[in-house]
Amino acid sequence: MVDLNSLVHDIAAEMAAREERGTVASYIPELAGVDPAGFGIAVVGADGDTHVAGDGDTLFSIQSVSKVFTLTLALGKVGDALWQRVGREPSGNPFNSIVQLEYEKGIPRNPFINAGAIAVADAILAGHTPKVALGEILRFLHFVSDDESIHIDSAVARSEQATGFRNAALANYLRACGNLRNPVDLVLGVYFHHCAIAMSCRQLAMAGRYLAFGGRHPTAGGKVISSERAKRINALMLTCGHYDGSGDFAFRVGIPAKSGVGGGILAVVPGKASIAVWSPGLDAQGNSVLGSAALELVSRRMNWSIFGD
Ligand code: GLU
Repeated sequence: MVDLNSLVHDIAAEMAAREERGTVASYIPELAGVDPAGFGIAVVGADGDTHVAGDGDTLFSIQSVSKVFTLTLALGKVGDALWQRVGREPSGNPFNSIVQLEYEKGIPRNPFINAGAIAVADAILAGHTPKVALGEILRFLHFVSDDESIHIDSAVARSEQATGFRNAALANYLRACGNLRNPVDLVLGVYFHHCAIAMSCRQLAMAGRYLAFGGRHPTAGGKVISSERAKRINALMLTCGHYDGSGDFAFRVGIPAKSGVGGGILAVVPGKASIAVWSPGLDAQGNSVLGSAALELVSRRMNWSIFGD
């Protein structure tokens, strides 16, 4: 049995030696300026112990990883009715693609592409002001990670808002199809701000525990969500969590995971571990190069692929 503490330190050392690191996201200055040499990893095992290595305590912009948490909240709020507005199929298209929306009459393919996450943000916003909706998202994160310090990076949020013309196009198209119920600017405000949440690998791995351990909150006791719902969110992470790289990630790593263009990935090994990795260099699909490589090593060394030993 491989010791988790040695595993995370070995992997951090191996990643530090890699030369192929991908390209840091450049659409906003706050992301473009991040040091491409960064790499962090955190693993929370079934015994509750956390193992952290490299830059595992460095804060980064979680970007689309936040969509796992907003999906959880929206399902809690509207239940399975959400699936009338958002599909559950991999998109095979880039994360910010607009083409499929027209073919599919304003029903985004899944909740993790931008269009789907904007519809999810609309569901969370219903009956609230954006401030209250964002407070709800942050409170949820504080609860599941046992960490009240998690916050929104307001400089990132402002930049997202100032440059998010494509997301505005997606939101307007959803609205034109009747799949957005709140004013476009308010929904986009919620979306941009939840993408701008800053977290470390340690905090993210803690936040993913409810998905890894059957919906339970390991320290507070009781359920965050039902085990049925946790299984389904994990299934969506596996099939749709890496945009048009989801098939390849499942092939190489075999673990449900959600990536973001900040370079973070949350991975969930049911019953065994919640893992977060971060490295800002991305591949052509917008997924962290070193983060994916690290998870491939974790999966192999721990025999954690969900597809068999
Ligand atoms: N804020 C980014 C966007 O909406 C998130 C993309 C991502 O992490 O994949 O374009």
